[in-house]
Amino acid sequence: MSEVRARTLPSGVSDPGAVDAVIVGAGFAGLYMLHRLRGLGFSTRVYEAGSGVGGTWFWNRYPGARCDVESLEYSYSFSDELQSDWKWTERYASQPEILSYLNHVAERFDLHRSIQFETRVTAATFDEAANRWIIRTDRGDRVSARFCIMATGCLSAAKIPELEGIETFKGKRYHTGHWPHEGVDFTGQTVGVIGTGSSAIQSIPEIARQAKQLFVFQRTPNFSVPAHNAPLSADVIQDWNANLASYRNMERTSAFGFMHEPSTKGALEVAPEERQREYETRWQRGGFHLIGAFTDILVSKDANDTAAAFVRSKIRGIVRDPAVAEALMPTSYPIGTKRLCVDTHYFATFNRSNVTLVDLQASPIEAVTTAGVRTSAAEYSLDSIVFATGFDAMTGALSNIDIRGRAGVALKQKWYEGPRTYLGIMVAGFPNLFTITGPGSPSVLSNMVVSIEQHVDWIADCLAHLREHRLALIEATLDAENAWVTHVNDVGHQTLFPLANSWYMGANIPGKPRVFMPYIGGVGPYRQKCDEVAAKGYEGFILSQAATYA
Ligand SMILES: Cc1cc2nc3c(=O)[nH]c(=O)nc-3n(C[C@H](O)[C@H](O)[C@H](O)COP(=O)(O)OP(=O)(O)OC[C@H]3O[C@@H](n4cnc5c(N)ncnc54)[C@H](O)[C@@H]3O)c2cc1C
Repeated sequence: MSEVRARTLPSGVSDPGAVDAVIVGAGFAGLYMLHRLRGLGFSTRVYEAGSGVGGTWFWNRYPGARCDVESLEYSYSFSDELQSDWKWTERYASQPEILSYLNHVAERFDLHRSIQFETRVTAATFDEAANRWIIRTDRGDRVSARFCIMATGCLSAAKIPELEGIETFKGKRYHTGHWPHEGVDFTGQTVGVIGTGSSAIQSIPEIARQAKQLFVFQRTPNFSVPAHNAPLSADVIQDWNANLASYRNMERTSAFGFMHEPSTKGALEVAPEERQREYETRWQRGGFHLIGAFTDILVSKDANDTAAAFVRSKIRGIVRDPAVAEALMPTSYPIGTKRLCVDTHYFATFNRSNVTLVDLQASPIEAVTTAGVRTSAAEYSLDSIVFATGFDAMTGALSNIDIRGRAGVALKQKWYEGPRTYLGIMVAGFPNLFTITGPGSPSVLSNMVVSIEQHVDWIADCLAHLREHRLALIEATLDAENAWVTHVNDVGHQTLFPLANSWYMGANIPGKPRVFMPYIGGVGPYRQKCDEVAAKGYEGFILSQAATYA
């Protein structure tokens, strides 16, 4: 399916119209939200900074980009027709295939006509007199909406590191999260990749195959497990279709939003040989299954050490140069507490003669120069630098918008010491503003499509409820928000996650408060909590004021 390019409304014109809802973002979240609200008869406008739909999959076009939740599961479940007419070709779909899927979704449900592309929302202000949000864009639009729904993405604000001299580099610079649409040919080039997180781990093997020489600048080594990606077999597809309803239900009630073989034993309850066998089986199976091998890997450091040691032994077995292998082995944080990477030949790539690992722990980057990168030990001349340096995760896209609630209070100010939400969906003092997969919800710790559908459905039902009961406003109470933040922190601190300097903790952004942002209580229990809140008349929210709906 071809990508549909920008269809922008006339720019620079104040929009005199008002809508029931504005949605910001046209990725998985914004598209489904639009579909639901349209189905309920709400007038809705979507603003999207990019020139097409797809969000993550529109922007992240770097070589090797693909999902690491399996394709069949990393897809919408809301429409049986959509599920039956789309055919995934690989166990883990590539970026072009996922983008085609999202374009297919937008076309199938006729979504493009409500989306204004190439338009960035710059401000959203709550007008207390009118009980409406005033939304402004970089094209001069000003629209009034009763509801403002942020579908801005947890990983959409790309982060370029603050390195001295970065602007002076004479070669080409790329960020994996803003990859040129026409692609990049690295043939014959000396390339530097800065960063070794998920995007780096996916792109490095591909870039290494093209480049004359590749330098990988690594500050913190990452745990990675093999994808064992392959074409989807007819048997797998047939099994999926035959059990679709129960598989989807398993996802929704699971801990992480995807199907896995749950373990019943702790890693230290079994004999070392049995433990090793279990890890080996899951390693051979590929993907995230390894981390679910035992019940206690994410909560007991001793248990975690066994899984970490297993992966380190694999790295030792794959990488021929013992010093390089040693440098690639993570030792400073528990496995799984930084996002586990899923790769295709990542560690083996360091056996290539044209690939060099530069260990920044031994010799940090001092500056980017006109010619390349200078560390405390050497200067590297480069034709291109690829920044695989990730995102200002979970709060970055929201902080980039000047969001002001009651009494003109800025969301950024309210979140100065870390994000505070009720259920990750709403913020006290910001009525009728919703955040899809916001901080305080399972979001990035889950199959995000499952979490997105759950939030979208909850929000759509909530708006329908308000309309049905002639209510204008919904707002989280401060008490409910405080209690939820405490709960999110308590649950987080029962795990090993706070031990890592991860983007879950905001640790990749200088000055960002060190707070564990997502909710680790599990996708299933979280859904149950949200449903209970709604069933009890939106417990913890204030619903108020009669209103006239068009
Ligand atoms: C490389 C990569 C691989 C991933 N793989 C997986 C995976 O395998 N499994 C998984 O569960 N998750 C994965 N994720 C997470 C992924 O972000 C989500 O799965 C999902 O795509 C998020 O959808 P979304 O609609 O919430 O946000 P996004 O897809 O990020 O879309 C948000 C959109 O909002 C737009 N936007 C933001 N701010 C503004 C503004 N101010 N004005 C206008 N538009 C704005 C952005 O341009 C963007 O298009 C991956 C992320 C990355 C970066």
